[in-house]
Amino acid sequence: MTTFDFQERIKQFQDLIDTSRRIVFFWWAGVSTESWVPDFRSKDGLYNQHDVQFEQYQPEYLLSHSCLYDEPKVFFEYYKQKMDCRGIQPNITHITLANLEKSWKLSAVITQNIDGLHQKAWSKKVFEVHGTTQRVYCDACGKLYDPDILFTFTWSIPYCDCGWMLRPDVTLYEEQLPMKARQESVLALRTSDLFIIWWTSLTVYPANTLIQYYWGEHFVIINRDSTSQDRFATVLFHENLGEVFSKIQV
Ligand SMILES: [Zn+2]
Repeated sequence: MTTFDFQERIKQFQDLIDTSRRIVFFWWAGVSTESWVPDFRSKDGLYNQHDVQFEQYQPEYLLSHSCLYDEPKVFFEYYKQKMDCRGIQPNITHITLANLEKSWKLSAVITQNIDGLHQKAWSKKVFEVHGTTQRVYCDACGKLYDPDILFTFTWSIPYCDCGWMLRPDVTLYEEQLPMKARQESVLALRTSDLFIIWWTSLTVYPANTLIQYYWGEHFVIINRDSTSQDRFATVLFHENLGEVFSKIQV
């Protein structure tokens, strides 16, 4: 694709944004990769990082319900090392989306990312279909804790005042996705007039099933690789998200 094509597509995208009032942005991994938070399945993702300490475990197991409850020390050690997003700042995409929300153009960001970077960029309407590392609670009494505790605790397992174990409000493997986030996402999609989707993978059920709830006319796809959905796009980008969003005026 030539630069000219890119500029034309940006212009089309900008026109769609300018004329829309209920944009929904959906992503399936990747946005935060541009803020250096590793996603799970990409080439440089969490699952492909070689790590001797955890070599005997499958990556899925280390972020699973079984690991949390059967081997909590292993779970929290891995979590502490790999899931710490505290020093990471929102990128241009997070900031542009937050500005679209402030301009009353965006009804929701639906995300599988668990890093809380949208909230750091001051987005409010964020539906986290895989939960978030930014909420920590006691599984017994429900008391909420500062999320930093999972990176600063000195015991081998972080405990609540009541004596039970704490956990992040992240949907682990073997757990159900949060119903509320899913219902809110469906509602936002049904009333949306522009659906922008970024994905690096189409294979991971069930978040990809949300797409069927969009009934609007325009569909913008941004992805690095081709997918079977590309032919439905009003505007299609194979550029990086940051390249596209840095050109958009809000
Ligand atoms: Zn408790």
